[in-house]
Amino acid sequence: MKAQDFQALVEHFGDLSQVQREALVEALTATGSGEEVVALIETRFAAAPACGHCGAADFKPWGSASDLKRYMCKACARTFNALTGTPLAGLRLREKWLDYARALVDGVSLRKAAARTDIHLETSFRWRHRFLAAAKDKKAVSVTGIVEADETFILKSAKGSRNLVGRAPRKRGGKAKKPGLSTDEHDAILIVRDRHGETTDAILTDLSAAAIRAHLKPVVAKDAVLVTDGNKSYEAFAAETGITQMVLVASHGERTVGCYHTQNVSAY
Ligand SMILES: [Zn+2]
Repeated sequence: MKAQDFQALVEHFGDLSQVQREALVEALTATGSGEEVVALIETRFAAAPACGHCGAADFKPWGSASDLKRYMCKACARTFNALTGTPLAGLRLREKWLDYARALVDGVSLRKAAARTDIHLETSFRWRHRFLAAAKDKKAVSVTGIVEADETFILKSAKGSRNLVGRAPRKRGGKAKKPGLSTDEHDAILIVRDRHGETTDAILTDLSAAAIRAHLKPVVAKDAVLVTDGNKSYEAFAAETGITQMVLVASHGERTVGCYHTQNVSAY
């Protein structure tokens, strides 16, 4: 992986459309050890050195931290390293996020990514969301065809806590869930994905019709078939916009009707 490829990788991190996923697979497969990547990071930085806070190019060496050279900016008087200002800044366990990146690229679930990387599920969620947030400008602008929408929950107070929502792990294909989870205690993450792999997500403070609509309306194509669970907010959105909706009600642990299911988004 070349230095400029690394920059491209950082910029596209978390954007999991099929094409980019393949590009990332290629880049990451070609990548060796964590040290090599650190070297790449430094090289990339050296090509266009600038303060990650303010962009000034006037700085001096300031020791090192976390295996990266550190600098002191003469313009804003803050210290920074090659990762400052990138989605990877401040992430400790650097050797783990490389593994995690590979797991993301492979498109495995949060839970599998956590297990594979040997990090906690909550960390897995936080990292993924961080990468997605970093790539928010590259989120799907439109989802078309069969579009799955689903929610997952994370405790609002989860920072530093070891508990994600107390819910049994779901198998692919999903089973009944969110038995009255309160958004008083949980943030809802709404994930929307079509069969082309175009994906977008958002953290919602509640699952009201207004909140759902605000997120779905800009991205869901008018002729899409929206596949959801039984949450009435989706129904309201579909009725209002005239978008065809398919509600999958859990039965026998399955949420599949013909080719309609929410397995993709659940896996995501
Ligand atoms: Zn600065």
